[in-house]
Amino acid sequence: MRINRKRLEESMERLGRIGQTPAGGLTRLALSDDDRRGRDLLVGWMREAGLSVTVDRMGNIFGLRAGSAALPAVMMGSHADSVPTGGKYDGQLGVLCALEVIRSLDDGRVRTRHPVAMAIFTNEEGARFQPAMIGSGVMAGKIPLEDAYTARDKDGLRLGDELERIGYLGAEPCIPRPFHAYLELHIEQGPILEEAQLPIGVVEGIVGIAWSRITFHGVQDHAGPTPMRIRHDALVAAAEVVGGVRRIAALMGGDFVSTVGRLDIAPGIPNAIPGRVVMSVDFRDPEDAKLDRARPMLDALVQEAAAREGVRHEIDHYWRVPRTPFDTGVVAAVETAARDLGVGHRRMLSGAGHDAQYMAAICPTGMVFVPSRAGRSHCEEEFTPMDDVEHGANVLLGACASLAES
Ligand SMILES: [Zn+2]
Repeated sequence: MRINRKRLEESMERLGRIGQTPAGGLTRLALSDDDRRGRDLLVGWMREAGLSVTVDRMGNIFGLRAGSAALPAVMMGSHADSVPTGGKYDGQLGVLCALEVIRSLDDGRVRTRHPVAMAIFTNEEGARFQPAMIGSGVMAGKIPLEDAYTARDKDGLRLGDELERIGYLGAEPCIPRPFHAYLELHIEQGPILEEAQLPIGVVEGIVGIAWSRITFHGVQDHAGPTPMRIRHDALVAAAEVVGGVRRIAALMGGDFVSTVGRLDIAPGIPNAIPGRVVMSVDFRDPEDAKLDRARPMLDALVQEAAAREGVRHEIDHYWRVPRTPFDTGVVAAVETAARDLGVGHRRMLSGAGHDAQYMAAICPTGMVFVPSRAGRSHCEEEFTPMDDVEHGANVLLGACASLAES
């Protein structure tokens, strides 16, 4: 049994037109009008495929294909939101491959023992509302529903209100439910598979992630009449931290990565000394112990930078996800499916967070990676060759079909 490559490609093209950027990328922020259009298209396809569609109180969309027994479902899924000027593969591909697997089971008139389901999770990217992976996080019981509803975008709009506005505030409770397994196909978003010229990554787990928010309070003043000797510049302290965060990664070594991705500078005009800077720090490593060691290093770095510039500081270590190991049985099912198809594959860890991370807390979970050209993602150049997409979808089909019989 194989997926229908042409049908999958056509679906990718049609969904990719909603929120398409002039350069061929994608801007489809969570709970925007384009997100609603994308959801509507997907729900239409899911109903055409005979799935019974439900929407939960976080706007997560589920489609269920009955099995021959009243058992928990094998669920496949991902997300349909994107980052601003992102690509057409991150998230979308996992959702469309899940749909294609279900369509292919229908083509083959396959009756699985376990039901097979697909899911589209709300606001995975965290680009509009923080934290990321909020839809799966609430479903896994890791984020309170009320906290999710009160998350605000940069214009002050509440997630709960936006869910209602686009018509995806569903009635189903958003709570942990029994699933037989969860499978997510996703682009790798790194260079490993392409460098190794392998179409399939068998993902064994996700690295640990730690996010911190640092605020420096300096003294806002005029950029002209204020002599250098009396300045307390919040951005000068922040700049030290940007460089220092990179030195922490060098000290930790191995696969440790560190990023300052956001600086909010107030007042943010050319002729004023920055009075306040809020900045983000993102640390990742396969070993939780290294994240534990990095935290006091960051604290010391921030304290020293603040003292040197004579500014006040706050540090909030507000989000931490430990390394997530995937289920050995599901990982083996993915590996066996790749081997049976005769396609090149290797085991690997994911450096990025995915909905699968939260799903792993409530059911046996695994992921299928396909290559990202030049390792790039979250950009308009994001691309995966169709041959690799086809291999990935067939591995997903094989793994899903075997798990649905087990
Ligand atoms: Zn994604």
